[in-house]
Amino acid sequence: MAINTIGVLTSGGDAPGMNAAIRAVVRSAIASGMQVIGIRRGYNGLINGDTFELDARSVDGIQTRGGTMLYTARCMEFKTEAGVKKAADICRYMGIGGIVAIGGDGTFRGALDLSRSGICTVGIPATIDNDIACTRYSIGFDTACNTALESIDRLRDTMQSHERCSVVEVMGNKSGALAMYVGVASGATSILIPEKPVDLEKDVFERMRRGRIQHRNHHIVIVAEGVGHADDIAKAIHEATGVDTRVTVLGHVQRGGSPTARDRVAATRMGCRAVECLAAGLTNRVVCAHNDEIIDRDIEEALAMQPEFHEELYRVSQMTVL
Ligand code: ATP
Repeated sequence: MAINTIGVLTSGGDAPGMNAAIRAVVRSAIASGMQVIGIRRGYNGLINGDTFELDARSVDGIQTRGGTMLYTARCMEFKTEAGVKKAADICRYMGIGGIVAIGGDGTFRGALDLSRSGICTVGIPATIDNDIACTRYSIGFDTACNTALESIDRLRDTMQSHERCSVVEVMGNKSGALAMYVGVASGATSILIPEKPVDLEKDVFERMRRGRIQHRNHHIVIVAEGVGHADDIAKAIHEATGVDTRVTVLGHVQRGGSPTARDRVAATRMGCRAVECLAAGLTNRVVCAHNDEIIDRDIEEALAMQPEFHEELYRVSQMTVL
């Protein structure tokens, strides 16, 4: 049966570019003759019927803004059978035949459950961590990299003046993807990521000592949050090398800001693909970036995939330091 009305929600941690994805879903669905319902605060809004109609004008210009106009939240009730049933019943009552769920792996697990309850679902990957195994790219990653990079470049100026070492903790959950990108882009002395064993002596102290012989007077050490606390690493660096260290935890600043062109374009392509899936009567799909294309995969298969570590980027990051 053709779908006349779809719902769109954002769930889990926010990411710059979610708004651009919402806009693409709304505009492409309306162009295909469908009505679009915005659902507030992720699966909470579905369970509580906290919804409103989104017309083409209601998403004017939102592609330039970070965050999500639909708000995002975690919803414990949706992890229960009763919660999913309630959400599916509300969809049926409101005539919503399909849901586009924008978020991470948890959000896709929710979409899988909803699909099993008879509501068509499509997921769109959005997380600054870029740690979703089924897709090479997640909305928000590029903006977060650039935001972090801008701060690190500023830190380098002051570290150079005072001949210090800056230990910068970046987000990434259990993934080192963000740390590797900003580490390579900023020319960091060391990049510590959870995917590789951390050897402070070899990867940090020795490099700093070597640098000192070559008259390098300042250092940037990038620590992925999955490795541990930047404070502990800074203390160890000071004890081992005597270099004055300063810690910066970039934190949630990395989650905000106007999305980059890359994120806006990825979000727009993914949003349109999600609507195409629903219009074609597909369910239980997740939109993914694969090579230079946007494809869709079965959610269950997607969730079973293992994250691929970017060995080549890691190798490069090790080759370009002192
Ligand atoms: P990120 O990790 O980037 O914050 P995410 O989508 O993985 O994004 P989660 O908090 O894991 O974030 O999940 C978001 C929401 O998805 C949860 O609050 C819950 O409503 C729903 N969800 C998560 N796991 C499940 C599950 N196993 N079954 C049903 N719903 C789930």
